[in-house]
Amino acid sequence: MAQNPPDLRPDLSNPRLERDLGTVRPGRNQPTIGMVSLGCPKALVDSERILTRLRAEGYGISPDYSGADAVIVNTCGFLDSAKAESLDAIGEALTENGRVIVTGCLGAEPDYITGAHPRVLAVTGPHQYEQVLDAVHAAVPPDPDPFVDLLPARGVSLTPRHYSYLKISEGCNHKCKFCIIPDMRGRLQSRPAKAVMREAEKLFEAGVRELLVISQDTSAYGTDWKDREAKAPILDLARELGTLGAWVRLHYVYPYPHVRELIPHMADPASGLLPYLDIPFQHAHPDTLRRMARPAAAARTLDEIAAWRRDCPDITLRSTFIVGYPGETEEEFQTLLDWLDEAQLDRVGCFQYENVEGARSNALPDHVPAPVKQERWERFMEKAQAISAARLEAKVGKRMQVIVDSVDDEAATCRTMGDAPEIDGHLYIDENFADLSAGQVVEVEVDEAGDYDLWARRL
Ligand code: SF4
Repeated sequence: MAQNPPDLRPDLSNPRLERDLGTVRPGRNQPTIGMVSLGCPKALVDSERILTRLRAEGYGISPDYSGADAVIVNTCGFLDSAKAESLDAIGEALTENGRVIVTGCLGAEPDYITGAHPRVLAVTGPHQYEQVLDAVHAAVPPDPDPFVDLLPARGVSLTPRHYSYLKISEGCNHKCKFCIIPDMRGRLQSRPAKAVMREAEKLFEAGVRELLVISQDTSAYGTDWKDREAKAPILDLARELGTLGAWVRLHYVYPYPHVRELIPHMADPASGLLPYLDIPFQHAHPDTLRRMARPAAAARTLDEIAAWRRDCPDITLRSTFIVGYPGETEEEFQTLLDWLDEAQLDRVGCFQYENVEGARSNALPDHVPAPVKQERWERFMEKAQAISAARLEAKVGKRMQVIVDSVDDEAATCRTMGDAPEIDGHLYIDENFADLSAGQVVEVEVDEAGDYDLWARRL
């Protein structure tokens, strides 16, 4: 493979928007808006918020260019390849529709966008919801109508009804050298716990049965509050979310010491907190981590992992890594492979290092040649796949609860507590499944395992 597979890329263009976003008819005489959303789940949440606001104002939502009076392109600027993809998407929207408003991470560089596409109507940056709405109002003004449709209870969501992303904070106080997110999104700003809980409760009341907690740095939630009482507010928030009755899954957690306090709750099936941690380790060699300027670079991660597994033997660990970071020697890379052997992570994604305009890592010496990066990526993925397959094989014969994502003629596609939507594997029930429906949680016994997926029968 020439590059990271799309399902492992944080700059992944998210086709679900176009695929799953059905037509929402506008209120009387109101215009219709199209949305193309690129990038990570955090950008997806932004798109949902924008559409929810537009919907509340009576705008219609169109899944295609031809039915839209204007199109919003929510861009990603994480990697140079993502920027190119964003420019392409803007170009396509201009050709197909002609009235285009750009927002999102790449919107932080308006000259870059207007230089390539001078015809765009407006450019706004990430989370500038008000500015996006102002741009939409200017481009296609709403017709004043006191009888606009009421906002559905859970707003407009671009994820299936039974799971939803829940963004708890924005921005980041770290300065990883390969990352420009703090420049684009600013310093950490945590949402008040009450607001997060209110949103979570509304989602649950509207039928959501799995909450995917996201942010740039979930473990740091609340540490920006000046008057905070708790040292690590994420602990209280996670516990409180767990009381709702939905599955609660934590993404983007850094291995700070207080994470250990979450693990006993994950081991308790009644807590609602899934035994699942998505921790972006990025590398294992201390020198590479230092050159990356990673948070918790000095953490003894193997000891931490062993302690987590001691307290919660069923915990699923997912992570992402970068290979071919500037200065990465064969010895450093080998340390990463050895670490992976020992850590036995359940799920991993791997990126080949790429320069990103504005990132400090660009200026580091000893960039790794492309063929070496490719070769290391292949070695890494081979090992990761073997580990994943062995860990899944060990689940054969086990009983577990799974959540149903969809049902068709051939099988019910489900996920275990160890599988996040979109990025992890599936569990298929291919007998006695016709009465199942999305969002249901059922008990199964696993009878077969593949490299990434499982098959099971109902109990
Ligand atoms: S922790 Fe590092 S990689 Fe993650 S958003 Fe912050 S600076 Fe970027």
